[in-house]
Amino acid sequence: MYFWRNLNVMSKTKYIFVTGGVTSSLGKGIISASLAKLLQERGYRVTIQKLDPYINIDPGTLNPYEHGECFVTDDGAETDLDLGHYERFLNIPTSQANNVTTGRIYQAVINKERKGEFLGKTVQVIPHITDEIKHRIQILGKTGEFDIVITEIGGTVGDIESLPYVEAVRQLKWELDSKDIMVIHLTLVPYLAAAGELKTKPTQHSVKMLMQSGVAPDVLVCRTERHLNENIRKKLALFCNVETNSIIESIDAETIYDVPNLMLDEKLDKVVLDKLNLETKTEPKLEKWNDFLYKFKNPKHHITIGLIGKYVELHDAYKSISEALIHAGATNETKVHIQWIHSESLTEKNTSEKLKNLNGIIVAPGFGGRGIEGKIDAVRFARENNIPFLGICLGMQMAVIEFARNVLHLKDANSVEMDLNTTNPVINLMEEQKKITEKGGTMRLGAWDCTLEKNSKSLAIYGKQEISERHRHRYEFNNKYVADFVKAGMLIAGENKKTDLVEIIELPNHPWFVAVQFHPEYKSTVLNPHPLFVDFIKAGLDMV
Ligand code: GLN
Repeated sequence: MYFWRNLNVMSKTKYIFVTGGVTSSLGKGIISASLAKLLQERGYRVTIQKLDPYINIDPGTLNPYEHGECFVTDDGAETDLDLGHYERFLNIPTSQANNVTTGRIYQAVINKERKGEFLGKTVQVIPHITDEIKHRIQILGKTGEFDIVITEIGGTVGDIESLPYVEAVRQLKWELDSKDIMVIHLTLVPYLAAAGELKTKPTQHSVKMLMQSGVAPDVLVCRTERHLNENIRKKLALFCNVETNSIIESIDAETIYDVPNLMLDEKLDKVVLDKLNLETKTEPKLEKWNDFLYKFKNPKHHITIGLIGKYVELHDAYKSISEALIHAGATNETKVHIQWIHSESLTEKNTSEKLKNLNGIIVAPGFGGRGIEGKIDAVRFARENNIPFLGICLGMQMAVIEFARNVLHLKDANSVEMDLNTTNPVINLMEEQKKITEKGGTMRLGAWDCTLEKNSKSLAIYGKQEISERHRHRYEFNNKYVADFVKAGMLIAGENKKTDLVEIIELPNHPWFVAVQFHPEYKSTVLNPHPLFVDFIKAGLDMV
């Protein structure tokens, strides 16, 4: 689809680094994804990588309150949520190689040391850790699949833990042809209301910090609440040693999906391509993207979906779900309002009052017992009141427990995750999980196949019988109970035929009740909204 324009001229991969200055949370991920989008729509093959300076091997063991959602790739990597943005913007899958942590770097170096690969040498941050970082950066480039690799360096310049990454970039800048590598520094230009002006000093300091590590930025992307005038641009350019056209304004946007257009207006893509000596003749083709944006911003309908979870105070914990609802809403020309509902706030008594105005209910993924009774009450309310219901992972498991308790009258039915001694373990630990003792990276992860049942709603929605979806779980629907559930009216709508694992359940006597053991939200992108979410929103609209 995307092709390499300058095949005869350029054969090497180009590397773009994105560093951050002044403060965290400036949106390096969105800037990286937006630039990548523009380059991709000009015909370049682009991927984005995130380097995270923490010591966890991956974010799989982090509480969502710490770090937001854990995103999962097809190849089963548990990754930073920025990879979700990369996929949603670029519409191509990422992999393990797209997210590297300090923990992983050190683990690789220490494993090599134990094998004797550095025999006789003292193993040090420089050169061994920086060599491993450079190797991880270039892995994607060396596949030959990408013309441009954008590497986002997590954290803020000046952090102790980021130093080896910045040093690796410095070395690469020295090693590679200057036209093959560049650094974009994302910074903040704050507006001081009392002075009535934008201030450049924090940016000057942060660039100075970067330069002390031997790295001079080629482009400054300046986050700001107010437009940068010519004077400010010139001042930033002069004092930070970059060209004036390389001062890129990044003004606060109404939605993250506006950012590619904002970067296009500022010519970030052109500046970057010029610096990398790449062709800039054709403009990015953003028609489909803009079609999505138009629908998103000009909705004909409005609906409210309740998202029931236990981490709702931090919306980032459900990032892929909320974005999937945006994509599916736009497809239906509908603005989806999310009502964030804490599962611990729901009781048998207040559930109907709290949920009665919703057009659809999602019970979210999660781990552990906190808040599960509220989730079960929410499932019951959706089932008994014909409200469109989508259960995701733990949400499906809660739907199974609810059905067991209230339809099959197995009053103590539970998941063994919550109650090891239940006499009706309708959700059980998967066989292969029983011997696992370590927590990190040991769940059933990544893409697994699922075959859809002939008469299922899911088959009609997907339009094909064989699907593949991403997973992250240890527990499953206990097959011993399946016959009883089916007799009582539940449809096993999707199964992994090799392992007999139940992947989807439906209630055919309900207008829209679908619950899935996998995470459809990870595969929803702007140009490819997920069919389950699209149909769920459609069902919600029928309620309005
Ligand atoms: N805790 C459940 C399990 O491990 C569900 C996981 C999830 O929702 N991702 O099976």
